[in-house]
Amino acid sequence: MLTGMHVAIIGGDARQLEVIRKLMELDARLSLVGFDQLDHGFAGVTKMKIHEVDFHEVDAIILPVHGTSMDGEIQTVFSNEKMTFTEELLRQTPMHCTVYSGITNDYLDRVVKSVGRKHVQLFERDDVAIYNSIPTAEGTIMMVIQHTDVTIHGSRVAVLGLGRVGMTVARTFAALGAKVKVGARRSEHLARIAEMALEPFHLNDLEQHVKDIDVCINTIPHPVVTASVIAKMPAHTLIIDLASKPGGTDFRYAEKRGIQALLAPGLPGIVAPKTAGQIVANVLAQLLSADLKKRKENKK
Ligand code: NAP
Repeated sequence: MLTGMHVAIIGGDARQLEVIRKLMELDARLSLVGFDQLDHGFAGVTKMKIHEVDFHEVDAIILPVHGTSMDGEIQTVFSNEKMTFTEELLRQTPMHCTVYSGITNDYLDRVVKSVGRKHVQLFERDDVAIYNSIPTAEGTIMMVIQHTDVTIHGSRVAVLGLGRVGMTVARTFAALGAKVKVGARRSEHLARIAEMALEPFHLNDLEQHVKDIDVCINTIPHPVVTASVIAKMPAHTLIIDLASKPGGTDFRYAEKRGIQALLAPGLPGIVAPKTAGQIVANVLAQLLSADLKKRKENKK
């Protein structure tokens, strides 16, 4: 239980509703900022403006999954209130106050570091990334169906990267009957791909391996789908780039060659906001409980 813990949830999208629900169940004291247009009746939680929060007694701050913008703005889909996450705001919190977000950026890193508070990036955790890979794979299936006129079953699909997303995507497309090959650079990854009964190839040989594909799904956040790779693809190839912005594809060249290439960020929040919210909520509940327990033990 989180009885006695004061958590400020500032901004976000539908995923935060699952976080609110979960933390309410655990009896946390919640201050919701940037939720004034939310119709949902969360009994017992207080909706307030950012300047109304008494940050001196806030034990944890939960920011949107994307953290802040590069100039500190906190986005919310439930309010028109303009909110900025600043050093002055964070400095008011007790030393033990922890800031949680999905990802970070230079601005957020700088603010948290300068004030000396702990910052947890939930999406860096293996468990979150693996759970999130499930709605990501489902969103990728949706995009491939929308942008091709043939079945996934029987299609030749190249997946680039065997990380948390790549492995789930490769396995899911194979389960749908696609002929899946996976490009990686580490020998243990190539071995794992073979063990999964998929076709492994080294990324150094990428140009050779795209000559006969229908779909290329990139998960590598580096420029791997270069102009010379795209030049070798059949004209009908669909490229779906899942890697974080700006992706790993030369989109300019793809367009020039008339190859459909789509950057597809944030699929979990688009195709399954409730599941994506539950993933974040469950991990946050564990982390906040551990934090509260530790502080209680330190007080003894
Ligand atoms: P990950 O577990 O770190 O996997 C990344 C993969 O890329 C690994 O196989 C890694 O291989 C490979 N890689 C990295 N740098 C490389 C390079 N320079 N050359 C060749 N291979 C390289 O990451 P993940 O969790 O799978 O996420 C992959 C990407 O998808 C990230 O950018 C993430 O932000 C994004 N993502 C997108 C969505 C969405 O909705 N579109 C959802 C979740 C995640 P090594 O082990 O050899 O380095």
